[in-house]
Amino acid sequence: MKIDIENLTKRIPGTGDFISIDNDKCNNCVRCLIICIMNLWRKKDGKVYIIDDYKSKCVECASCFQVCEAGAIKFKYPAGGTGIVFEKG
Ligand code: SF4
Ligand code: SF4
Repeated sequence: MKIDIENLTKRIPGTGDFISIDNDKCNNCVRCLIICIMNLWRKKDGKVYIIDDYKSKCVECASCFQVCEAGAIKFKYPAGGTGIVFEKG
């Protein structure tokens, strides 16, 4: 069963950047690529990065941050009143 996130949520702009990666700390374990249910992480030429428009797709689960044992990912929840709002459950 596919969950249609877009129909279950709305997004309030103004989050600013709330996820970043320090590639000097990243060990290329690709756990962030595997864990992200929204498929927002990429690896190219040996470098891991999050897609440019992640703010419009991220569900703010913080899973990428939790699995990054290298401490390469910085995550902070967007300010109240911005970001994803779950409307149906
Ligand atoms: S989980 Fe952390 S260390 Fe692993 S690839 Fe992602 S950013 Fe790099
Ligand atoms: S917070 Fe969740 S949805 Fe957002 S990039 Fe990280 S794993 Fe993906």
